Amino acid sequence: MVHRSPFAVSFKKRYPWIQLAGHAGSFQAGEYGKLLKKFCECERQCLEKLMKDSLRPFVPGYYGVVMQNDQDYNVMDDLLTDFDSPSIMDCKMGIRTYLEEELIKARERPRLRKDMYMKMVAVDPAAPSPEERAQQAVLKPRYMQWRETLSSTATLGFRIEGIKKADGTCNTSFKKTKHKEQVTKALVDFVDGNTPILRSYLQRLGELRSALETSGFFRTHEVVGSSLLFVHDASGLARVWMIDFGKTVPLPPPQTLDHRTPWAEGNREDGYLWGLDNLVQILGDMLQD
Ligand code: ATP
Ligand code: MG
Ligand code: MG
Repeated sequence: MVHRSPFAVSFKKRYPWIQLAGHAGSFQAGEYGKLLKKFCECERQCLEKLMKDSLRPFVPGYYGVVMQNDQDYNVMDDLLTDFDSPSIMDCKMGIRTYLEEELIKARERPRLRKDMYMKMVAVDPAAPSPEERAQQAVLKPRYMQWRETLSSTATLGFRIEGIKKADGTCNTSFKKTKHKEQVTKALVDFVDGNTPILRSYLQRLGELRSALETSGFFRTHEVVGSSLLFVHDASGLARVWMIDFGKTVPLPPPQTLDHRTPWAEGNREDGYLWGLDNLVQILGDMLQD
């Protein structure tokens, strides 16, 4: 019997694992380059289907469910293992980050929310309507829709959630990074003017777009709150993967989405491909400058 020495394991994990978004405590390091993410049934179903889809090369490998200390986890590949001191960026895709069913639920028992009003005025004192101001409260659906207009989600179909660079600097305050110029600035800083890395990312995104356009999974799911994880390092290796399928839900057959048609409530379009088109355009423009 061949034993893997502990040295082999630690050699493969030369870096502290980095989490750019989501709740602290949702992840555990697994063995041999695996990662444990707190169990979510919706995500399990998606990852299982994705293992048999044309998107397979663009998602972390999935290995089922394990229990640890009474908590279930989905086991997947840690996408950072092949990199040395990686720079990482999480881009949340799509023109909205809530599901249509969440909007419907929020409307079922409309309650005036003072907490959401407070959050709103803290960001933009001019945001509430005269009526909302009089009530000192807003309805949840209104708050959800307003929040998407702060970042580039509503205007570009994606937003940067976080960037961690090889030099250790980390920025997760992009909530108000909205305009194309601001987004471009953040992306330029992320690739540090490294043209070969930018070209690798563009090539990979082109391949991803082709795979998305032919994927049976993608056509038949509303994909919300899912991210593209960008990873590169000084060796010039640069890759992109799709992650986070906690809010990716199947459509009732025979409904399909093209992910580019503008969203009108009821059509369930998520603007994922429209956002990817914009992202590719912006990265391509950076090559010209
Ligand atoms: P949220 O729904 O708030 O976005 P979440 O709890 O669903 O968060 P994810 O978005 O899946 O969590 O992941 C959070 C972060 O963890 C990512 O931004 C990324 O930095 C890291 N991460 C997630 N999955 C992987 C993976 N397979 N390999 C490496 N890093 C990962
Ligand atoms: Mg996420
Ligand atoms: Mg999530």
